Amino acid sequence: MLSQVRRRFGWKIFLTYMIVILVGIVVLATSVEFTIPTAFNRHMAGMSPMMENVTGLGMMGGDIGMDLYTNFRAAVIEALTRAALAALLAAVIASLFVTRQVVAPVRAMMVASQRIAEGHYDERVRVMSDVSKAELDELGQLALSFNQMASRLEHTEEIRRQLIGDVSHELRTPLTTIKGSMEGLMDGVLPAEVETFQFIHAEADRLQRLVEDLQELSQVEAGSYVLDLHPITVSSLVETVTTRLGRQFEEKDVSLEAEIPTELPAVLADEDRIGQVLLNLVGNALQYTPSGGRVSVKAQPKDDQVHITVTDTGIGIPTEHLPNLFTRFYRVDKSRSRAGGGSGIGLTVAKHLVEAHSGQIWAESPGPGQGSTFAFALPVVTSRR
Ligand code: ADP
Repeated sequence: MLSQVRRRFGWKIFLTYMIVILVGIVVLATSVEFTIPTAFNRHMAGMSPMMENVTGLGMMGGDIGMDLYTNFRAAVIEALTRAALAALLAAVIASLFVTRQVVAPVRAMMVASQRIAEGHYDERVRVMSDVSKAELDELGQLALSFNQMASRLEHTEEIRRQLIGDVSHELRTPLTTIKGSMEGLMDGVLPAEVETFQFIHAEADRLQRLVEDLQELSQVEAGSYVLDLHPITVSSLVETVTTRLGRQFEEKDVSLEAEIPTELPAVLADEDRIGQVLLNLVGNALQYTPSGGRVSVKAQPKDDQVHITVTDTGIGIPTEHLPNLFTRFYRVDKSRSRAGGGSGIGLTVAKHLVEAHSGQIWAESPGPGQGSTFAFALPVVTSRR
């Protein structure tokens, strides 16, 4: 019985009601016990003249008085007993009602959370759909939050599963190549020449880059980094990137131009992180632009932002691929991108970083062979900040 009470919220509510009723009865019975004799005598004394007129008996005899008192006391006790029984019934009905209202949804959430813990992430509890959030009581809001938490868990689990699938797929190709080449070397099918070793080394290098990219991606996706925001000038940012990539542009014979107005307002950004974004966009432009092509970096103010665009005369992007470019591992031409060491993560990381700066990033292209433009917008430094 005690363990039932301990384990069942409904029993606890019933017992609470019982205690309240019991205390009420005890208080009532005690006060009745103490007040009845004096109150009875006082009222009887007040009634004496009336009784005298009616009956002509004068003061009532002691026996009749005693009888009246005993009967009156019995009537009061009977009334009290009936009231106690009625209160008991009310307690049973009220606790059943409260249990239905409180315990049932709590129990539903308990069952749902157990199912989620067992891996059934699609489990939800019932919430009144025709009522707005503000109109729900605390339990309704708890159920709503519970469902939101379950949805997030389901989404995270989905992303995790997808990530594992994507990562294993990405790792498989270079690993198979390395393994195949090593077997070829061991069997003597492949010559033990510098080219063979260079080829294996390049694959291992790609593997290493992929792991580094993944580390970077998991860091930005989890938001486990701190932005060191400062007012920075776009021209210095562009200069750093063009200086870093200048040699590679020369080697590939692609011209690199920068057109940054001097009166451009400063933007509020983490120099390293935004430098990384621009480096990625300009690096991509170089990678996907054949020799003899041109890449230009421009910046212009627009509303409360500065738009930085990287335009190339490269291979371009078919329109249907544009919305997916910022999805991780997405590559328009897998083999081409892979050959260039691309893992399809760079733009995803760039998107996360730009959005962490309260900015936007987008891509445009008139179509294959007609070049592309990648742009991002950053908020300018205002006096309010
Ligand atoms: P990757 O490391 O493969 O370049 P990104 O995330 O940087 O990964 O880019 C995703 C895909 O977007 C690339 O594989 C490529 O197909 C396409 N892409 C990116 N930049 C350009 C560009 N300047 N011109 C054409 N395609 C591009």
